[in-house]
Amino acid sequence: MSIIQTEVVIIGAGPCGLFQIFELGLLGIKAHILDSLAKPGGQCAELYPEKPIYDIPALPTCGAQELVDRLLEQVKPFGATMHFGHEVTVLNKRADGRFDVETAGGLKFDAGSIVIAGGVGSFQPRRLGVEGADAFEGTQIFYRVKAAAEFHGRNLVIFGGGDSALDWTLDLAGKAASLTLVHRRAEFRAAPASVAKMHELVAAGKMRFIEGTAQSLTTDGGVLKGVNVKDNSGAIQALPADRLLAFFGLAPKLGPIAEWGLDIEKKALKVDTEKFQTNVPGIFAVGDINTYPGKKKLILSGFHEAALAAFAIQAYLYPGKRQFLQYTTTSPVMHQRLGVSEAPGG
Ligand SMILES: Cc1cc2nc3c(=O)[nH]c(=O)nc-3n(C[C@H](O)[C@H](O)[C@H](O)COP(=O)(O)OP(=O)(O)OC[C@H]3O[C@@H](n4cnc5c(N)ncnc54)[C@H](O)[C@@H]3O)c2cc1C
Repeated sequence: MSIIQTEVVIIGAGPCGLFQIFELGLLGIKAHILDSLAKPGGQCAELYPEKPIYDIPALPTCGAQELVDRLLEQVKPFGATMHFGHEVTVLNKRADGRFDVETAGGLKFDAGSIVIAGGVGSFQPRRLGVEGADAFEGTQIFYRVKAAAEFHGRNLVIFGGGDSALDWTLDLAGKAASLTLVHRRAEFRAAPASVAKMHELVAAGKMRFIEGTAQSLTTDGGVLKGVNVKDNSGAIQALPADRLLAFFGLAPKLGPIAEWGLDIEKKALKVDTEKFQTNVPGIFAVGDINTYPGKKKLILSGFHEAALAAFAIQAYLYPGKRQFLQYTTTSPVMHQRLGVSEAPGG
């Protein structure tokens, strides 16, 4: 795979990472942005998309997903390349002052500067808490569906009670050789219509539902053969299975960011308040991931940090360049970068 050259790599596409594209773009600096999630928006999109936010300046109320959509619209003119489903695992500073960046999926970058906008960390699927499960991850135990055909014709057990668990149950019932849904209680977080449909399939004998939790795996010669489930009566049910799918939601983990040699205090990266730079020159951190005296984990704080970090990044990338503040209202060069024409009479 070829190495992608770029001025800046932004790690994390939450609201602050997205706004960083904008602030860099105004200064004529191009970025690639990466997120381990499959979509942009960080906590806003993942944890509370439907909730209103009341403290975004000049927007008396704004839905969390709406904020993400508005930010995506605002950064469009700057043509940042967005890579979703890519966790950044490697970050190294080279002797020439540039950075090598690598993702778990094998993407490689040669970047002039880095902004870490990693929030509370990279969202990871909560794992099936039974002994030995790690060894089968990606071969017989899965936490997301990449190719549905992988599960066709299999003896499949699905764990979970949210929309993902129910949606895949409905999709794969009839295509799997056998399908059992296991959820720890009779109440579901999933859409009631999906739950009703699942109960219909159970009544029609097309699948099983067990109220219970996974206890242990059955294996033979390094191959997963089944899973033992403790049901709500306390009995152990041995389910033959050659594929398990578990949807227990996502939890953030600081993950690889903790291994990049950066100064960390209480799970956050220490930065100064002039540049929002970490202890490694050229690596900046904005949003919930950073800490400094008086830090407040608010979106508007992250927006301010992104603006100042952009100027500092410009100085890092182009040390000789004169810096001056221009208003988006009146600057012809910013209008050009924004792709807008000057207002009539302006
Ligand atoms: C329920 C709730 C309500 C809230 N309400 C408000 C509010 O009213 N007002 C307000 O200002 N704030 C609110 N917040 C806080 C606000 O959501 C956060 O301050 C904001 O999301 C921080 O943005 P961020 O871009 O720094 O990080 P995040 O939104 O956390 O995004 C970080 C992104 O980085 C990615 N990432 C991390 N590590 C890696 C890696 N190694 N590789 C690739 N990707 C990585 C993560 O997957 C994530 O998508 C609320 C939070 C919650 C949970």
